[in-house]
Amino acid sequence: MITRDEIREISEIYSPEGCALTFYYQPALPLDKSHRHEAILVKDLVRSALAESEKHGRNDCARQDLERILGMADQFQGNSRQAKAIFACYHRGIWREYDLPPMLTRTQLVVNSRFHLKPLAPLLEAKPRVLVAAIDRTKARIFELADEKIVEKQDFFTGLPRKGKSDGFAGYDGGHAERRELNDAMAHFKTVADFLLAYTQRSGIERVAIGCRDEIWSEIKPNLHKYTLDRLVGHFRVDAKVVLPAEVKEKVDYLLAEDDGRKKLDLLREVIGEAGRNGRGALGLRRVLRSLEMGEVQTLLLEDKFAAPGVQCTNCNHIDINMSHSCGVCGNPTIAIEDVADPLLARAMAAGIDLHYLPANGELDRVGRIAALLRFRADQNTSMKLAV
Ligand SMILES: [Zn+2]
Repeated sequence: MITRDEIREISEIYSPEGCALTFYYQPALPLDKSHRHEAILVKDLVRSALAESEKHGRNDCARQDLERILGMADQFQGNSRQAKAIFACYHRGIWREYDLPPMLTRTQLVVNSRFHLKPLAPLLEAKPRVLVAAIDRTKARIFELADEKIVEKQDFFTGLPRKGKSDGFAGYDGGHAERRELNDAMAHFKTVADFLLAYTQRSGIERVAIGCRDEIWSEIKPNLHKYTLDRLVGHFRVDAKVVLPAEVKEKVDYLLAEDDGRKKLDLLREVIGEAGRNGRGALGLRRVLRSLEMGEVQTLLLEDKFAAPGVQCTNCNHIDINMSHSCGVCGNPTIAIEDVADPLLARAMAAGIDLHYLPANGELDRVGRIAALLRFRADQNTSMKLAV
């Protein structure tokens, strides 16, 4: 994984000759078994960048780095479920390679004067740890999903926890000896519900998901404790006896994405509402940039297709969308930036701002594909305003 500090450091590297190479590799979805295409895609991207350098003299200084990636292309032939990022600038002796969770939007290659950081945005959002139970009338299997990995932790048969799994939940003994003789489904559901409660409380897991056949969800749900229900991300259809961990992960990822989408939409509407009443909302690049430089931003919302050219001051790092050669703040020379999203993300990370990345979204599109929820307004006494 790549740290926020590393991203900030990478964002500061500038190649006036335009030799900064950024490469992102995103493996194909698990369902798509055509891994051969992955290596072919990488080779095509590199070859067209190399052809570009021969035709127009562009990318020439990135030739060594491009050839190095071409040499690696066969590694991408499906033997890894990891995504990858490479930041390279041959003349500056820079080659940084990171394994990432497979959450990038696509494989891409860019040669430019700055490293391209926006594709990292989806990774910078914290994903919750999820406890998952796949349940049927006699069996239950418990999984934990964290950092893009799913691990089966425990299983139950008619309410009895099976001991001896090496990665079982340490110290949990079931504690329900009196129930061990009851093997009806209700007692089984109750035992599993108690286990889910104990596990989430002890481990501090943030979310819970339940997989079961549709017809028994109405029997399981009343057994779940309020603490568990408060953390429930949803339920999904599954056959607990035969389901594979990877399938469970896929279903839970889908539930999480839906839940995440709803939350982001709520947040976006809150920001739009706040901006509409001249409150703690900033819409559009110009307004967001100003709020960022004033230290007002609490949460940044960035749409997938957001991109805008601009300039950045070589002295004070002020970012401006007026393409002026001198800084509007301190008067020093500026340099052109292909996409202000890159320095903007780096700055947001350095300031510890929450980042939310939205796939294509009509509402955010209409306000300029970028928006921010503010913690205060420097030009208003917001705390007074909120208190009223
Ligand atoms: Zn300046």
